[in-house]
Amino acid sequence: MRLLVTGAAGFIGSNYVCGLLSGLIPAPPDVRITVLDKLTYAGNPANLSPALNDPRLTFVKGDIADDALLEKLVPGHDALVNFAAESHVDRSIAGAQDFVHANVVGTHALLQAALDAELPRFVQVSTDEVYGSIAHGSWTEDSPLQPNSPYAATKAAADLLVSAFARTHGLNASITRCGNNYGPRQYPEKLIPLSLTRLLEGRRIPLYGDGLNVRHWIHVEDHCRAVQLVLEKGQPDTVYNVGGGTELTNRDLAGRLIDLCGSPAESFTYAPDRPGHDFRYSLDGERLRALGFAPRIGFEEGLADTIRWYRENRTWWDPSPAGT
Ligand code: NAD
Repeated sequence: MRLLVTGAAGFIGSNYVCGLLSGLIPAPPDVRITVLDKLTYAGNPANLSPALNDPRLTFVKGDIADDALLEKLVPGHDALVNFAAESHVDRSIAGAQDFVHANVVGTHALLQAALDAELPRFVQVSTDEVYGSIAHGSWTEDSPLQPNSPYAATKAAADLLVSAFARTHGLNASITRCGNNYGPRQYPEKLIPLSLTRLLEGRRIPLYGDGLNVRHWIHVEDHCRAVQLVLEKGQPDTVYNVGGGTELTNRDLAGRLIDLCGSPAESFTYAPDRPGHDFRYSLDGERLRALGFAPRIGFEEGLADTIRWYRENRTWWDPSPAGT
């Protein structure tokens, strides 16, 4: 199987590709992978280092919105998994142009190239943030899309394009929607790596507002297993929530990180709230569970492993002389 994986120099995509090639995630025995990544600030070829010398891996630097490149690259593949995106909410609030380019124009370019090349399978990696915010209960895949941040709006637009290409053109495409991921190699602007790196530097964790916003956490390895399951067994024109994670407030999360790092109890501080800040995310994962999905990594164990990784790989997140 020839797999084209976009955005795989980033956090989740690199865990997916390294997982497939190491056997951590079961893959077809003849799997060969092409990675297409623009190497933005969030993309780092070193993220793929466990697999870079594997003859089954080919790395191509480029933009998913580059139609001419896609026309050459896509034919001959059996499936495409799209992880490529601008992914940080705060950056999308500061300016959303790059988000429209990567998440909307880029996804459209991939869909058109997949259609032109008669690609047999397409998986779009999306997010629970497209549903907005939910005070009680959990979203099913039929819940309305009510994105609040510019990031979430561009991901929702991409999801609608994927569905339109499936319905109008018969593209065999599925969508995954996952909650917050954590694990190794996550760029330290997101809550868990930001908090960990601050604590490891003896600094405080910044919490937005009153710290009571609730997030749904899943280990990146479990998310990658879910994506592979959807690739292999998902139905066309179908969305799959990736549920089964751990829900907790940001303040509770900060408390656990502080304990696990052995930092002083008061190692957090409150910051002015993010505009349009979603209060709570919660996913109903029944549809994917029916395909056989269950997360394997418990939150305590996954968090402890993640802390270990950031402790042991300081030069990855702190290239200054202090980190070397
Ligand atoms: P990331 O920011 O770590 O990585 C994104 C990767 O995409 C980077 O390697 C970057 O270089 C690449 N990229 C960006 N624009 C590109 C373009 N135009 N062409 C080619 N490559 C481009 O993101 P992540 O956390 O690994 O997220 C991957 C996907 O999963 C995203 O689509 C995101 O919306 C989704 N997702 C993330 C989370 C999470 O908690 N991180 C949760 C649910 C869904």
